[in-house]
Amino acid sequence: MSASTAILTARSLEDEEMFHGTKPGWIEVICGVMFSGKTEELIRRTRRAVIAKKSVKAFKSHLDDRYDGIRTITTHDGTCVDAIPINSPLEIMEAVAPDTQVVTVDEAQFLERGIVDVATSLAGRGVRVIVAGTDSDFRGEPFGAMPELMAVAEVVDKLHAICVKCGDPACRNQRLIDGKPAPYDSPIIMIGGTESYEARCRHCHQVPRKNEHQTKLL
Ligand SMILES: [Zn+2]
Repeated sequence: MSASTAILTARSLEDEEMFHGTKPGWIEVICGVMFSGKTEELIRRTRRAVIAKKSVKAFKSHLDDRYDGIRTITTHDGTCVDAIPINSPLEIMEAVAPDTQVVTVDEAQFLERGIVDVATSLAGRGVRVIVAGTDSDFRGEPFGAMPELMAVAEVVDKLHAICVKCGDPACRNQRLIDGKPAPYDSPIIMIGGTESYEARCRHCHQVPRKNEHQTKLL
C-alpha cells in the first residue's frame, strides 16, 4: 500500500463520523476479506456510539460458527451491548425499538437479500445502519447481499488483510482443504477433511477448476 493510499484509508475511516447530513439515517458498509479487521472496526464505531449515549442495537448472523463475529461490546465505563444472533433479517425489524438510533450487523454476507430492504427501511426512518461483512467468497465472487448493500450505502470502507504468500494487501479469502487450495466446486459445508482459510492477494489466490485438472491430464 502506498503512503497516499494509507492516508486516504485512514481519512475514509474517520469520515464516517463526519457523515452528518441535515437528516439522520444512512447506511455504512465495512467490507473486506477475513482477517482484515472488519469486526474490530465495527466494534470501534459501535463503542463510540454507545459512549455518545445513542440507543444501539447490535446483531450478528449465526448461520456459520466458523465466523466468530461480535458477541458483546463493552465500553470502559462498563456499558455492554450484546449482539443478538439472527437467522433472518426480519428479526432485526422485530428487535428494533422506536427509539433505536444505531443498528449494527456483523457477518451480513450470510443473511438473505432481505437485509438490503431492512437496512434501507431503517435508514429511511432515521437510523444509522452499520453493516460489516465479507464481500467475496472463497472463489473470489460476490458474497450474498454484500454487493447490493455496498450499492445502497452512503459510506463504504473496503479493508484489506495482508497476503500470507507475498505480503501485498490481500483482497481474497483462500480456502484450503487438507492444506490444499479448495476446488471451485468444493461443497460449502465440508464433511470430513480439515479446512482452513488464509488471506491472499488476487495474484496468489488459487481456485482450481475441474476442467483445469482435465486439461492438464490431456
Ligand atoms: Zn500475494
